[in-house]
Amino acid sequence: MKRIFDDWFTVEEIDTHTFAISEYGHWEKVHSFLLIGDKKAALIDTGLGIDHMKRITDQLTPLPITVITTHVHTDHIGSHQEYETILVHEAEEDWLINGIKGLTIERIRKDIARDITIPTPATFNADTYTPYQGKATGLLSDKDEIDLGNRILTIYHTPGHSPGHISIFDHKQNYLFTGDLLYTETPIYAFYPTTSPEDLVNSLERITTLKNVSKIFGSHNQLGIDPSIFLEVQEAVRFLKDKDLVRHGTGIHTFKNISFHF
Ligand SMILES: [Zn+2]
Ligand SMILES: [Zn+2]
Repeated sequence: MKRIFDDWFTVEEIDTHTFAISEYGHWEKVHSFLLIGDKKAALIDTGLGIDHMKRITDQLTPLPITVITTHVHTDHIGSHQEYETILVHEAEEDWLINGIKGLTIERIRKDIARDITIPTPATFNADTYTPYQGKATGLLSDKDEIDLGNRILTIYHTPGHSPGHISIFDHKQNYLFTGDLLYTETPIYAFYPTTSPEDLVNSLERITTLKNVSKIFGSHNQLGIDPSIFLEVQEAVRFLKDKDLVRHGTGIHTFKNISFHF
């Protein structure tokens, strides 16, 4: 059991080769995940960028790390600049280089600075905070496979929350990493102009047909969701479709464990 104590990040061992690196001190309660294979490791997202994630991953593995970006939102790319190999879905290659059109730096700084409940590192300054921008070293498409050495990951293109959003299935442990497509406790966002409620529910329907999922890991809030939630997701999607609610502007729709903001 690897134990790491850190002022900003909370590191939890999911199994001996899989770690959640969480930022519970920020209102978004973001999780990034380190998956270690025999030859290399994958880091699914790099957090908020309030602190330096490489300090943590250096303690967890000496293997080369490939960063897999679930999607190009500020809270998922915060430490990208600390890694050499960066993968992103082809539909968000441009966002990674140029940022999201219409999303102002003032808005980003406001969101990063609010509702922080623990002391931030001295290196963090919300007034000068600037999200990562850079060119990915590789582009991802639906059904791509990444071999970490005796641990194969499959990429699923799951748009809706953003156009190039991906989910990742780990064939070794049967974990499904769902990014901002599926998590609990707070609404799943699909109300920005860059979102698509229609694509989101289609992506949800698709992932709920995946077989043998042992655990679901969303990128916010509760760490690790029982796959029995798939049934609730399917029922929720059916309800939303039947009532013609899968459209921008229909508001917040709340079910037992999940909710949506369209
Ligand atoms: Zn997001
Ligand atoms: Zn997010």
